Amino acid sequence: MDFEKINTWFDKLLQTDFVIIAGPCAAENRQQVLDTAREISQIENVKIFRSGLWKPRTTPNSFQGVGETGLEWLKEVKEHYNLLITTEVANAKHVETVLETGVIDIIWIGARTVSNPFSVQEIADSLKGTDIAVMVKNPIHPDLRLWIGAIERLYKAGIRKIAAIHRGFYPFEKSKLRNIPKWEIPIELKTQLPSLSIIGDPSHIAGDTKYIFEIAQYAINIGFDGLMIETHINPSQALSDAKQQLTPLQLKDLLNKLAFRKKNNHFETPSLEHYRNQIDSIDFQLIELLAQRMKIVEKIGKLKSEKSLSIFDLRRWQNIKETRIKFGKKLGLNEEFLKKLLQLIHKESINKQQNIKNGTKK
Ligand code: PEP
Ligand code: MN
Repeated sequence: MDFEKINTWFDKLLQTDFVIIAGPCAAENRQQVLDTAREISQIENVKIFRSGLWKPRTTPNSFQGVGETGLEWLKEVKEHYNLLITTEVANAKHVETVLETGVIDIIWIGARTVSNPFSVQEIADSLKGTDIAVMVKNPIHPDLRLWIGAIERLYKAGIRKIAAIHRGFYPFEKSKLRNIPKWEIPIELKTQLPSLSIIGDPSHIAGDTKYIFEIAQYAINIGFDGLMIETHINPSQALSDAKQQLTPLQLKDLLNKLAFRKKNNHFETPSLEHYRNQIDSIDFQLIELLAQRMKIVEKIGKLKSEKSLSIFDLRRWQNIKETRIKFGKKLGLNEEFLKKLLQLIHKESINKQQNIKNGTKK
């Protein structure tokens, strides 16, 4: 598949090496939209205004978005502030509404929708024959083929202005971030589809403004083509995603602090650095998993100590060794290496439980 790069989509506005998209999670009322847009339009590098009209919320009791009413406000933003406009669509009816009014320059498909091939196909069908630009968020769970599948459905419908948005993946374990980046997945996406632009969405990965800088900088460092950052005129009053939205002033400050690469040719040929970035991401996940394992070991240690059970259980240990080695060998790992690794982990687990038993928990 050959895609048009995001900075060639709109001649006048996007001829920049790195694309910044900013705006509120959701359009809430006319004043909030216009005030946010006015402030954002003063920030030099922001070219695209984002704002959700239809919000895919986890529960029906949360704010669901203002729907097509908000298109009027976005029309005003476009007229007054010379920003391109993007919003989320989740079904054919949304697409129809968006295409009819002509206010929206770029649509995006959200993580929940991308997770459902029927929905993506419905959207792709309704886009046939149009030239609208589409950004495709990663699906909720780390399924690269599903992400590529969604892109392919749009491509087959004739869309060539396609970009991907990396917003991280649902964390099955508690984590400081709202979504786990799993950087190796967008890196692999870029490896398989080199002409595809990738936009980072640090807001939805972070879930909290305090982590946005580090995630945004990482996305820049590994050669992403742009960033989408949720920005609200008054974040604490936001009706959705209040904790992760920056004020326009904070956005300006963030953009000043980030170190941008001169030229984003980083992904063009898979380099040593490219593979090292994948390794970095995987190593941090390995360590995080080990820490999670040790937390469970502590719980077991407490239980054993309360019930006066012995710490070492030969049958359990043999079973762990057998099953893990069998599994690892199937994945092409060396048996000796697996044995040593398991022994090391097991030893540390026993030590931890011993400390708990002795009341000297470290
Ligand atoms: C959003 O961008 O506001 C949004 C709903 O994102 P996601 O689909 O990534 O959860
Ligand atoms: Mn949001």
